Amino acid sequence: MISCPEIWTEFFEKYYSEEINNLAFRIKSGGDKRAIYVNFIRDLSVFQEGRLGEELIENPDEVLTHAEKGLASSTNIYGVSLEGCKPRFHSLPSTKKIMIRDIRSSHISKFIAIEGIIRKVTEVRPRIISAAFKCLNCRNVIQVPQDDSTLRYPYECRCGSKRFHLIPEKSISIDSQRVKIQEYPENLRGGEQPQSIDVILEGDLTGVINPGDRVIINGIVRAKPRGVQQRMLTHMDLFIEGNSIEMLQQEYEEFEITEKDKEEIMKLARSDDIYEKVVRTIAPSIYGHEDIKLAIALQLFGGVAKKLPDGTEIRGDIHILLVGDPGVAKSQLLKYVHRIAPRSVYTTGKGTTSAGLTATAVRDEIDGRWTLEAGALVLADKGIALVDEIDKMRKEDRSALHEALEQQTISVAKAGINAILKARCALLAAANPKLGRFDRYSPIAEQIELSPTLLSRFDLIFVMTDEPGEERDKQLASHILNMHQLGEMLEKFKGTNIKEDLKSKISKIEPAVDPELFRKYIAFSRNIFPVLSEEAKQKIEEFYVSLRSRVKENSPVPITARQLESIVRLAEASARIRLSDTVSAEDVERVIGVVQRCLAQIAVDPETGDWDIDYAYTGTSKKQRDRIFTIKKIIEELEDLNENGAPEEEIVSKAREKGIEESKAREILSKLKMMGEAFCPKYGFYRIVRRR
Ligand code: ADP
Ligand code: MG
Repeated sequence: MISCPEIWTEFFEKYYSEEINNLAFRIKSGGDKRAIYVNFIRDLSVFQEGRLGEELIENPDEVLTHAEKGLASSTNIYGVSLEGCKPRFHSLPSTKKIMIRDIRSSHISKFIAIEGIIRKVTEVRPRIISAAFKCLNCRNVIQVPQDDSTLRYPYECRCGSKRFHLIPEKSISIDSQRVKIQEYPENLRGGEQPQSIDVILEGDLTGVINPGDRVIINGIVRAKPRGVQQRMLTHMDLFIEGNSIEMLQQEYEEFEITEKDKEEIMKLARSDDIYEKVVRTIAPSIYGHEDIKLAIALQLFGGVAKKLPDGTEIRGDIHILLVGDPGVAKSQLLKYVHRIAPRSVYTTGKGTTSAGLTATAVRDEIDGRWTLEAGALVLADKGIALVDEIDKMRKEDRSALHEALEQQTISVAKAGINAILKARCALLAAANPKLGRFDRYSPIAEQIELSPTLLSRFDLIFVMTDEPGEERDKQLASHILNMHQLGEMLEKFKGTNIKEDLKSKISKIEPAVDPELFRKYIAFSRNIFPVLSEEAKQKIEEFYVSLRSRVKENSPVPITARQLESIVRLAEASARIRLSDTVSAEDVERVIGVVQRCLAQIAVDPETGDWDIDYAYTGTSKKQRDRIFTIKKIIEELEDLNENGAPEEEIVSKAREKGIEESKAREILSKLKMMGEAFCPKYGFYRIVRRR
């Protein structure tokens, strides 16, 4: 026996009279959120020893009807009818929270809670809940309640006719939306595929969640036979009929950090060699690359996001790009970070089946509705996105990525879908050179398939080359071989006494900080918001000014405000590693070292040896740009002296007078032609293309 509607009225009047009055007021003033939110654990499970709660879990269909009736009969001070208002239940006890992968047939028709990240949402469209049919014979109108996705017709009219016509304007519809909720990426053990389940949301629950949102959904588990055209199978598909949504704002709350953990973290943060320890915790199986490991550590801890008084937002997340030869452990590094980061999503740019990096809007193949699906950067919101082979990403992602990396949002406006998705994540990406191997004498911009503007969004770009060198090769070989030799032994002798000489070998390939603790350490550090000290500010300023002051007219730009912001972010991250709330001068020195070594790899014009940030991002050095400018000027001067344009030989000799070598001049001429800046009216003659 389940409780009758009167008991529910009693419950509502006892615990929710204020909410009911508010609801009545909303209805009176034409509002449309016609629902009451009931706190399950606080109120329902104490009222009458929790009987109503238990009934709801076991018999949600009947109980929800009774609760709705009970709510409708509750009195309110405005005397407004509460007919059709929905009771919605949230905050279920944790025992009723089921993992998506654990939903079984025993849960069918039960009320449960699931938690996860929203992967896909369809546009909101009306669904008929009561269809009006007109009899084609006697014109009689019949209402047929609808509770399935296929339209149900009346069987027969009272006149005996079986031919009907649907009248949409007399049918009753409700807003409806289907979303897909998926397990959190961070709760999966390596290699596991995330499981997901569809949720149907109706009425006031529609249009409120976006892909990437982390939510709890409370609702009823439903099963639907799988239909293959006319044949129905006995295998069922499960989905959830949503009753309520709880939005979660969690940062890293899923980490339980005990007092003991906290003590250990504090102790670590105070140790003198914490930065070395941290570096030795990032991918110890990979030999060398200390700068990259330090950069990754800084990325994991992250800078501080800021909102300026004028509303501008500055990201705290640090983006890193690894470019380099095949087989230098780029992919390995990414996979390692995936395992160790508190929240991360791993994907590769060439995955064609996945939703890509940003977001995709596609038509659903089943019901033709537009569906918005979250890509990796959305799913990694408030974490880190690991994208291997980013140079192979889809065309759509290329344009969306600019916004995603700087504003940390992804705007979608397509068909019935208008959304701004959040992508507040750090990006660690790897790219391979176009021609297979990296040529350190050519600019990286020419060697990888990423646009200059996109390259400039990365705080740090590392070039990883595989250059033979006897000493390094020997060390690397011994490191890799040790790993192969000891990897298994370590498993076997876990916890037992190991000989001293083995111990020292092992310490080189074991993480310096236990990965579980490291993850908590990172999560814990995120609650600290370091601020630049005066000395730190001064150090950064000095660095910036010293580089900029070398800039005379016509010389390259060594560094821009963008790098300045990067240094601030990195220095804040460095302070976070110490759990310090001030950024010290040492923090700044540490990160300037990394930034300098990074820029030395990519932003030094090999011709002049000068630092040149344009050379890094566009592949064209300041000097080269000046030369191009000079040659264009020469063509302009000469082109009108001859009916066919400027003769090549004359251009070359004039260029030589201005200090441009012959080979360079000819190279620039062919470049100008290729880029459509100049053309040849006749072989060996040049004119400038003038655009109006
Ligand atoms: P990439 O993605 O750069 O092409 P991978 O990550 O697939 O390269 O690495 C190829 C293999 O070489 C991996 O098994 C990796 O462990 C090994 N390797 C390369 N460089 C190192 C290194 N410095 N230390 C340890 N192993 C390395
Ligand atoms: Mg690879």
